[in-house]
Amino acid sequence: MTTLQRQSTDLETDYVRDWKKKGGKVLGYACVATPVEIIEAAGVLPYRIKAFGHPDTELGDAYLARFNCRFCRSCLQLGLEGSYDFLDGLVETNGCDHLRGMFENWQHVKEYDFFHYLKVPHFLRDDSLEYFTEELALMRDAVAAFAGREITDDDLRAAIDTYDEVNAKLKRLYALREQVPPAVSGAEVMELVCTGSSMMGADFAAMLDEVLAEKENARVSGYKARLIIMGSATDEVDLIADIESTGALIAADALCFGSRAFWNREGEDGDPLRLLAERYLGHLFCPRMFTDYDRRIAYILDTAERAGVDGAIITYNKFCDLHGVEAVSQRMDLEKAGIPVLVLEKDYGSQADTGRIKTRVQAFLERLGK
Ligand code: SF4
Repeated sequence: MTTLQRQSTDLETDYVRDWKKKGGKVLGYACVATPVEIIEAAGVLPYRIKAFGHPDTELGDAYLARFNCRFCRSCLQLGLEGSYDFLDGLVETNGCDHLRGMFENWQHVKEYDFFHYLKVPHFLRDDSLEYFTEELALMRDAVAAFAGREITDDDLRAAIDTYDEVNAKLKRLYALREQVPPAVSGAEVMELVCTGSSMMGADFAAMLDEVLAEKENARVSGYKARLIIMGSATDEVDLIADIESTGALIAADALCFGSRAFWNREGEDGDPLRLLAERYLGHLFCPRMFTDYDRRIAYILDTAERAGVDGAIITYNKFCDLHGVEAVSQRMDLEKAGIPVLVLEKDYGSQADTGRIKTRVQAFLERLGK
């Protein structure tokens, strides 16, 4: 069995179960603006909250509203119904209001002993970098108190080195997907990124070594068109698989469970907290960063060009204001650059949407002449 086939899209994976059995602590976070290095430096497992299984959302709906994005309502549902009882605490960020509502209602009901609100600025400026560095110091102190140990600069540097290794390996994996013909599919890449977001960095790096060795000479064939996908935070491996089942290959992405989580997070030496502030705030390709549209679209266009795509899919969950609004400018700019676009608004995880999505992707491939 290959490393990819052994992976699980369960919430509580064997890895997490073993970690807990050994007495390890786990902190849940949702937004890629959360510097996982600080959590790892305390010997705690950073766990990115996912909504695998796409549950019904009665409990989530009771605390949020039907006009909140269903990804957030699904995560809240899982939290409230007990599927996330293996978490020891939560780290909230102000990614968007839906996410904040999810975290605050979750904490209101579950009352974790550890709950930290990391405030992430919405601008990339000198003063906001300074502010974010101070916020990271507060987070370091809170996590250290929770873990019952100091987090030194050396601990932080070691965690930063580990993630440099993870990110370099993820980039190699992405290069295997961008090549013609690709060695790995879009659904496989997303599954790997999701799996890695429930692991300590060093263990994920070792898993990536296995996958890279297995995939180096593999070839994905039979696809008709190469596409880039971008949009809201989503862990829907099955959405990517459904799109690829029509003959499209997701050759590149600008997703949060994807390249936005790690691209260009290299940097200079120096004070580790300042370095983390620069890396995270400086590479947060999300519409929550108010004045950064030009850098975001440049990053998407570079990625699309590197992967030689025939078209782009912009997908966002219903009621996701940030990505819904951004989709309008993105579509115009991509088409101006000669890249045809399909805009796909969808309900997170809705099986009812599957047929419609496949039909629209098939029609898009025809529009591309594929
Ligand atoms: S879409 Fe933006 S706010 Fe949401 S998880 Fe990604 S970076 Fe955070």
